[in-house]
Amino acid sequence: MEAFIRNDQYNEWKYQVNKLVYNQATLNDDDVLEAVQSLAIEQIAEQFVMLSNEQNKLITLTAQLNDEGDAQLFLDQIASLIIPFPAINNTQITQLFPKAKLGRMSIQESERKFSSYISWDDTGQQKRYIIAYVDHKHVGIEGRLHTRTVHGVCSICNHHAATRQFTTSYKERGDEGNYTSYSQYVCSDTRQCNENIRVLDHLYTFISKMTK
Ligand SMILES: [Zn+2]
Repeated sequence: MEAFIRNDQYNEWKYQVNKLVYNQATLNDDDVLEAVQSLAIEQIAEQFVMLSNEQNKLITLTAQLNDEGDAQLFLDQIASLIIPFPAINNTQITQLFPKAKLGRMSIQESERKFSSYISWDDTGQQKRYIIAYVDHKHVGIEGRLHTRTVHGVCSICNHHAATRQFTTSYKERGDEGNYTSYSQYVCSDTRQCNENIRVLDHLYTFISKMTK
């Protein structure tokens, strides 16, 4: 089967798998369990615009997982069907961040695999770089990453986490040298953030606010 699952869809699928295994262990009523299973299948399928029979069958298998061992094997299987974040080379990265001194960057396939966005920090400069993929294009955002960590809701994954303030500044249109800055709280740990993303809406809103 060809890869057909995005990172956010995999994360939602994983969330539903874990919820189902937990329900399987705790619910005694077969009718209730059956209802919970169909709802989970529906919620997984809902994320995809189009599904082949084979893909549909794979989603249905989710209801047959009995324990954590089964769940892990199944999740490993569907992880091999993840579409990695679209590849980007050094020249393209330099074009996204023309003013930044990036040195030699290279983003490996393993890093792109479980990613809805790519990110790295320049701790010396207190900066974070973010690359997202919107409307079939890579989009780059760089901003100041504050050192203080606070517990809050991340603007990208919408989860409670250890977050840091991320601030971008941009020149206002039509104004001479007038800079406006814009801040949002984002996960300190971007790997964890990518694992938390179950819908892309928050990421897209974040990108559009930060690239005004
Ligand atoms: Zn996050």
